[in-house]
Amino acid sequence: MSADLAVISRGLVKRFGAFTAVDGMELDVPYGAIFGFLGANGAGKTTTIRMLCGLLRATSGKASVDGVDVIRNPEGVKARIGYMAQKFALYGDLTVDENIRFFSDVYLVPRKKMSARRDFVLDTTGLRGSEGRLTRTLPVGIKQRLALACALVHEPKVLFLDEPTAGVDPLQRRTFWRLIHKLSDEGTTVFVTTHHLDEAENCHTVLFMQDGRTVGLGSPRELRDAADNGDLVRARVPDPAVLRTSPRVRDITPMGSQWHVRLRNPADAEPLSEELGVPVHRIRPSLEDVFLEACRVEEEARR
Ligand code: ATP
Repeated sequence: MSADLAVISRGLVKRFGAFTAVDGMELDVPYGAIFGFLGANGAGKTTTIRMLCGLLRATSGKASVDGVDVIRNPEGVKARIGYMAQKFALYGDLTVDENIRFFSDVYLVPRKKMSARRDFVLDTTGLRGSEGRLTRTLPVGIKQRLALACALVHEPKVLFLDEPTAGVDPLQRRTFWRLIHKLSDEGTTVFVTTHHLDEAENCHTVLFMQDGRTVGLGSPRELRDAADNGDLVRARVPDPAVLRTSPRVRDITPMGSQWHVRLRNPADAEPLSEELGVPVHRIRPSLEDVFLEACRVEEEARR
């Protein structure tokens, strides 16, 4: 397996009884990349992350993280990664500083390095000055940064963040993403799941997942360019019933006060405009359009 890649998987599968949660995952994530993992609820994102972190045994397939074989040596993987679970594993009754010290001990940070690592994570995550605050009293945005600080304390080369921005306000989300970029610039690989498609724009590579399978993979620009077939238009119609019944329309999605409409044929834009009696504007797909289309195509293929 290649030395330039922080995360590799080949045919990774997880079954729970007869149900297949992850169905042959192939991953090649270079060191220093921000790798975004997107999918609807239940797509298999957390299951994949838990397998890669050595927390859940794969049914079959291979994987390595930071050069360690996940299947053969899950304990070895745990020591080399930072993992921020969906529910922050912080101790509410400890202060910010006590949590950082606790995780330093858990991750066996050597005593002589401890003070420098503590300073690094406090400064990196902007928590300097909050050391004495009780964790359970912190707003969610600060708790999130503390969870990140605790996941970073042992200098992992690979960070797994499972929906780190859930419930966090837009300003704090932006601060958090600046931090992710800084870590990536310094060489840390960040593997992150999110439901926010605007956040996916921050990733070098994005993987769309549905029902355990990959349905899209590439940089945000590559994904948008590949999906730009000239068949997407936007229209403002008061009642979408006419869109739903038009033979020219393949799919519609509400976007604010307008509709994004996938045409059966790019040449149908003009006739549709006449049919609707309103202007129809050709548009380039957003990442959200690409994601929805990829899921629709996968669903159709499975029928
Ligand atoms: P979310 O965005 O809601 O976190 P997800 O993409 O992370 O979703 P997973 O949590 O990986 O999805 O779950 C994938 C599927 O596997 C779901 O249908 C879930 O119910 C199922 N699943 C997960 N863990 C188990 C388990 N221990 N036993 C049985 N089924 C499970």
